[in-house]
Amino acid sequence: MLHNQESVLEINFKALAHNYTFIKSNTKAGTKILAVVKAFGYGSDAVEVAKYLQDELDVDYFAVAYIREGAYLRAGGITKPILVLHPQVVNLKHAIAYNLEPSLYNDRIFTAFAKEAAKQGKKEYPVHIKFNTGLNRLGFFESDIDFVVSKLKTLKQLKAVSLFSHMAASEDPNEKEFTTTQINTFKKICTTFEKEMKYKPTLHMTNTSGIFNYPEAHFDMVRTGIGLYGFGNETKFDKQLQPVASLKSVISQIHRIEKGESVGYNRAYIADDYKTIATLPLGHADGISRQFGNSVGSVVVNGKLAPIIGNVCMDMIMIDITGIRCNEGDEVIIFGEGQTTEELASKINTISYELLTAVSQRVKRVFLR
Ligand SMILES: *Cc1c(COP(=O)(O)O)cnc(C)c1O
Repeated sequence: MLHNQESVLEINFKALAHNYTFIKSNTKAGTKILAVVKAFGYGSDAVEVAKYLQDELDVDYFAVAYIREGAYLRAGGITKPILVLHPQVVNLKHAIAYNLEPSLYNDRIFTAFAKEAAKQGKKEYPVHIKFNTGLNRLGFFESDIDFVVSKLKTLKQLKAVSLFSHMAASEDPNEKEFTTTQINTFKKICTTFEKEMKYKPTLHMTNTSGIFNYPEAHFDMVRTGIGLYGFGNETKFDKQLQPVASLKSVISQIHRIEKGESVGYNRAYIADDYKTIATLPLGHADGISRQFGNSVGSVVVNGKLAPIIGNVCMDMIMIDITGIRCNEGDEVIIFGEGQTTEELASKINTISYELLTAVSQRVKRVFLR
């Protein structure tokens, strides 16, 4: 089989479809699915992934973190509703220009957006009210509900189409009690809102781990990010999902070095014997953290793990391939078959999310359809 001739991030749409279907099968019929495609679709390709979710899988909603990300999706042909989770006051006029739906999380952003919507002559512009139920990151407090309701009753330019909250530890069974308190607080907020406003907005609270661990908190819609990309923050869910992204590279050059010779900057690696080493065209500017250097991380060469030796350079890493049968031009897998993103991430005490989103835009994306 012909393999890649340079560093590439392969994006597998069959895996994306599988994950979407699996997640949907874990929700009641009629529960809407919101796909989180922030940070370039968790480092994959926001537009291509969102297009597939929109056109082939008929997803209900999208979410991004910032207005700029939403504008980029619109420019790429995404027409489904886009929730912006963390808009900034300075960009609010662009939110309207691109038909993006902001999360309003405090008085400051609420007031600024109400002003902007009125200025642009909007009627019932869709907004999402974010409540803080314990994460203490973004959102109105439960005690702000009267303020929110009284504002919404008078401001005709806005319509709260959804209320939502976010779990602090949905993946952690030891925090079940805390999470249950979050769910109950959210329910109370929603009940008050519906009683006061006399309509029922879309309610949503769970991220991927919340979908799997708290079916009682699915409400009307669930938000999934990492699950779509193939990870469930737990081995039993990882097994049911398929990683969408694989990072691959090739061997640019092979060196044979003698005992006592060094490799790379600062001579960080010194050979303790005859060694065969290979140089790959990707480095810390491509998302391979310097923390992977000095044999902390490994890559897969013809099915075998080869440690990253010496310091990670900006555009290159060197690996020890002593005893591994391979040639210049051969393919190397950084994460994908032979080593999962989660396994590699654990080597530097991080999570799949960070490794996936670190793959820089310089790396070519290849789409497997
Ligand atoms: C990023 C994010 C999500 C997605 O979380 P996953 O764990 O990737 O499923 C959902 N909701 C909010 C508010 C987020 O910021």
